[in-house]
Amino acid sequence: MIVTLLGTNGWFDTENGQTMCTLICAQEYSIILDAGYGIRRVKPLIDFSKPTFLLLSHMHLDHTIGLHTLDYIQFQQPVKIVVPAGQKQAFEELVRPPYTNPWKKMVPEGSELLDTDELTDSGFPFEITTLPIQHPVPTHGYRLGIEGKTVTYLSDTGYCENAVTLASGADLVIAECGALPGTVKGKAPHMEPEICARLAVEAGVRQMVLTHFGAGSYTTMEARKNAASPARSIFPNLITGVDNMEIVL
Ligand SMILES: [Zn+2]
Ligand SMILES: [Zn+2]
Repeated sequence: MIVTLLGTNGWFDTENGQTMCTLICAQEYSIILDAGYGIRRVKPLIDFSKPTFLLLSHMHLDHTIGLHTLDYIQFQQPVKIVVPAGQKQAFEELVRPPYTNPWKKMVPEGSELLDTDELTDSGFPFEITTLPIQHPVPTHGYRLGIEGKTVTYLSDTGYCENAVTLASGADLVIAECGALPGTVKGKAPHMEPEICARLAVEAGVRQMVLTHFGAGSYTTMEARKNAASPARSIFPNLITGVDNMEIVL
């Protein structure tokens, strides 16, 4: 499978990146993680003859603002959209007039909106486990079993037990790094590179890519690289994410 980071900024778009989106292209299907403005970049990459799953971590705008471009993407098959438990109403209220077109008009007929409590008998072609993670609004992390590999998505969150559980033994963890080194105190809504690296060690993961760099804090690409570098003494397989980066698993 190919994992492509399409938007690696938290909060807002800058010249360094677009807001949050990651695409996983597997043999039989595609999975889109979050729908910041990076989602427009799925268009030339997705195989539209295969089903697509759109998994949303939470409703903050840097993860959902790209939903108003769903019709630009022109999906050819019904899309299954997943939101955290209790967030279907928020989704319906956001993706509708007068803000944008009704979501059902922007995706093919038969597309479905599910929440994370409705996944048990969903019949998805991959394993999916979700748990709430630490953020000021309802937010879920995802652990996906795809083609014999495990990919975990943790955005947005501070360090928490559920994040470690979801990441346990994963082949790849896509982890948020919203905060600058040395700025995270106590029970925080975001992580910094060293905290991410410690989580990776504790969970015994193979590799971790950092994403969701806070746009107001990480103002240059140099700042991303410099921040992540010292954390590699804790966990060497720590990758600094940038838009359009591909990771082959
Ligand atoms: Zn965010
Ligand atoms: Zn958030």
